[in-house]
Parts: sequence; C-alpha cells; structure tokens
Amino acid sequence: MAEVAPAFVGQFGPNINVRNFKAALEELGFSETYEVALGADIGAIAEAHHYVNKVTTGELPFLLTSCCPSWAMLAKKFFPDLIDQISQELTPMVATARTIKQEHPNAKVVFIGPCAAKKLEASRRTVRSDVDFVVTFEELQAMFDAKGIDLTAYEAESSFHDATGAGRGYACAGGVAKAIEECINEYYPGTQVNIEHAEGLAECKKILTLAKAGRMNGCLIEGMGCPGGCVAGAGTNIPIPIAKKDVAAYVKNSSRALPPKELEEIELK
Ligand code: SF4
Repeated sequence: MAEVAPAFVGQFGPNINVRNFKAALEELGFSETYEVALGADIGAIAEAHHYVNKVTTGELPFLLTSCCPSWAMLAKKFFPDLIDQISQELTPMVATARTIKQEHPNAKVVFIGPCAAKKLEASRRTVRSDVDFVVTFEELQAMFDAKGIDLTAYEAESSFHDATGAGRGYACAGGVAKAIEECINEYYPGTQVNIEHAEGLAECKKILTLAKAGRMNGCLIEGMGCPGGCVAGAGTNIPIPIAKKDVAAYVKNSSRALPPKELEEIELK
C-alpha cells in the first residue's frame, strides 16, 4: 500500500490530477493509496493539545515540531539539551503507516514523498515495522517511465478523502506551525499562541541557538530542513514556486479545513 506525502500535488505533470495519480499507482502495483496528510492531521491535533498542556502552563519552555527528520537530527546532534522540547508525537509518515497497519496488519507500506532524509527515519528501529520502504517522487517518476505508464491514460473513480487542508498544508514551510495554531484557536479559543518557523538548516541552527539562550520561550517552533519546506525536498520533480502554488490550491479546495479535536474521530477512508 502507498502513503503519499502532501507535497505530491503537481509533481507528476501540470495536467495530472489526484484521480490520474491514484489510478497510475494502482497500475504500478499498489492496492491502496492514502494521504500522509492524514498523519499530519493526527500530529496537528496532538501538538495543539501538547502546546496548550505543556507550554502555556510553563511545564516546557517551548515546543519543537518533529515532522522533519533533518531538523530533528540537527537539534538532537547539536543541541542535545533541547531534546525534551522536541515533540514526541509520531511524524506524519509514521502516524499514517501505523493507522494503515492497524486496519491492514499484513500490508507492506511504502512512503512516497519528496524527502531523502525519510529513508534514514524509516530505517530507525522504532519505525522499521511501520514503514517498509521509502520512495521519492523522483524515483516514482522513474518507475512510471520504466513501466511506460502515461498518467493521463488512467483515472480512478474518486479523489483523496482522507485529510484536511491543515494536514495538506504541511508540505510548505510555515504550514506545520499554521496548522497547529489553527487547531489551538479552534479547540482552545482565546489561547495566546506564539509561532516561529525556520527553513533551511542555517536558519534552523540560528533559531535553536536562540531557543537555547531562552529567547524563544512560550513558542511553538517549526523547523524545516529544506528552504521552502517539503515542496523543496531533494526528491522532488518541479520548481518550488509552482509546487507551492499547487499545494496552496489543493489546501484551499479541501472539503474540511481542520481535523476534529479528538484523535479517535480520525479514520481511514
Ligand atoms: S523539509 Fe526537506 S528534509 Fe525536512 S521532511 Fe521535508 S523534504 Fe525532508
């Protein structure tokens, strides 16, 4: 089964819609395809509760998001003192894979995304049993080419219905923090939320230095290793500005803007 990162939009050609993409994946051999944005929704709900319960109460000085493995690795390696502030929530890739395996215990799950660093994350002992393989968009396009699959010739009956605009917005820098902020505003109206974000490893290092010095207290800090976020990942196929525009349109056209407050209400469709 395939789980596809939200940055997929537009990556396989300007005329390729979700239904073409889904059907082409089936032609390649996948039995089902799910959105990793579903796992991002799960993460946004959990991080919203975490921020309110830990940061606004002063139990933690600030919270670092965990969905980008490059950022998380940078923080762990160069700022080991901050390890407690890195969110312990499952990353969208792992949360989605785990949800799939709960329903389909014998499935092999392939993460398809923009990111080479996810290969490292998937090889971790705690993640190995959830995510079986990682394939980048670039590698997937090579598979379509090798099999002679013309995506315009395939069309699935339905589009994706797994995720909300919030989870889909994780593809672009600033989207993770924005999704969590919107969830907090919805679930805990009136809460003061302080959002910061850094993109590119140089900026990430700078913001972690400031956080270590106590200059980011009270903040929810999103870090993305690639300047631009996942739409700029090493395994992408199209220019970043086009990818950003395509993702923004996809987010806007989502049938639901935000996930429900309770994790239990999330389900695979
Ligand atoms: S920002 Fe880059 S390194 Fe981080 S998860 Fe996205 S593609 Fe991977």
